[in-house]
Amino acid sequence: MERCIIVTRGEKETKELAAKLASFLKPGDVLALEGDLGAGKTTFAKGLAGGLGIQEPVDSPTFTIIKEYEGKLPFYHMDVYRIEEPEEELGLEEYFYGDGICLVEWASQVKPLLPEETLWLSITVQADGDRRIEMASGHPRWNSLCKELCQA
Ligand code: ADP
Ligand code: MG
Repeated sequence: MERCIIVTRGEKETKELAAKLASFLKPGDVLALEGDLGAGKTTFAKGLAGGLGIQEPVDSPTFTIIKEYEGKLPFYHMDVYRIEEPEEELGLEEYFYGDGICLVEWASQVKPLLPEETLWLSITVQADGDRRIEMASGHPRWNSLCKELCQA
């Protein structure tokens, strides 16, 4: 995959997209989310958790940096907004190179620590309130995903 774009109207569509994406995931996958406050990163994480069979409610890990859940696979939901020196957060790499699924909000903050095959998702709010979700990765790992999910 190089790049693909999906537009979602409403929280439900974003969750459904994330749940579909969940069905493609394998142990060790890392999803890096970018987008302003309120763009829909945590909403996406909730949909993904649903797709991984997690029953427990998922909320924003802004204050804890990381929250762990058990579904079909372990799910590590991170919000690294508050991290200023990624090199100092050495513990994060154990998750990024571990056997669960990582979803990282504000991922550019820890970009140097992320695996090469990370899937990047950037959410922007359009003028009409719809969300434009751009997925990008230079890694062939994601080629089939693009074919299945992308509209353009
Ligand atoms: P972030 O984690 O990026 O700060 P949140 O997911 O917490 O954002 O909040 C996104 C807000 O936008 C939610 O209140 C959600 O209901 C609303 N929303 C409206 N349309 C969408 C959409 N298409 N996708 C995701 N969220 C949407
Ligand atoms: Mg959030």
